[in-house]
Amino acid sequence: MIKENLQEVEQRILAACQRAGRDPGCVTLVAVSKTKPVEMLQEAYAEGIREFGENKPQEIREKYPSLPKDIHWHMIGHLQRNKIKYIIDKACMIHSVDSSRLAQAIDEEARKHNLVMPVLVEVNMAKEESKFGIMPEEAEDFIREISSLSNIRVEGLMTIAPFTDHPEENRVHFRNLKKLSVDIGAKNIDNVNMRHLSMGMTGDFEVAVEEGATMVRVGTGIFGARDYTV
Ligand SMILES: *Cc1c(COP(=O)(O)O)cnc(C)c1O
Repeated sequence: MIKENLQEVEQRILAACQRAGRDPGCVTLVAVSKTKPVEMLQEAYAEGIREFGENKPQEIREKYPSLPKDIHWHMIGHLQRNKIKYIIDKACMIHSVDSSRLAQAIDEEARKHNLVMPVLVEVNMAKEESKFGIMPEEAEDFIREISSLSNIRVEGLMTIAPFTDHPEENRVHFRNLKKLSVDIGAKNIDNVNMRHLSMGMTGDFEVAVEEGATMVRVGTGIFGARDYTV
């Protein structure tokens, strides 16, 4: 089933790229494997997937030893400062930086490991009270502030759009995130680039790709519905 799901998701990304006149090579599919057992990740790995997304540091720490070392682990969920240590030498990128205290703590932990951690700034485009992320109008100042931290590198923006059965409703949020990234990119802030836009999930990734996503985070569409009761 994972094989067929992956083929379908990849086909839909390709079609969205074609509609938008984008190079499919510029869109990375991050397979969101949270709550799913290692066997399912291995199945996706066998189909060529190397980018996996998890929203809990403990889950990366637990799955990491049983899976091949050429996997890139994306930390996509809200991160508590005391859990950074679980993933600092395992994650290839942290998509969810939304406070200077968190940015500073990642920087400190990265320095201990003598590495530079690529990070994305999470922006709450729809200004939902229930969501993490900084407000769009605060993004530039926030990025300027954390750009002085030498063991993290801001590489773009991320958003989690509202849950909806109508993906078109999220187009405006994706379009605005793209605009924001172009505006901030034009400021040429030292140690900052806007190479990545992490946006789009199972329900809306095609719209996100049409609006310029470079990374889509797809879970349910690949691994099936998640069961939180077990
Ligand atoms: C769970 C999750 C996803 C994937 O959600 P699906 O709707 O299952 O594709 C993407 N991004 C984040 C931050 C998530 O927590």
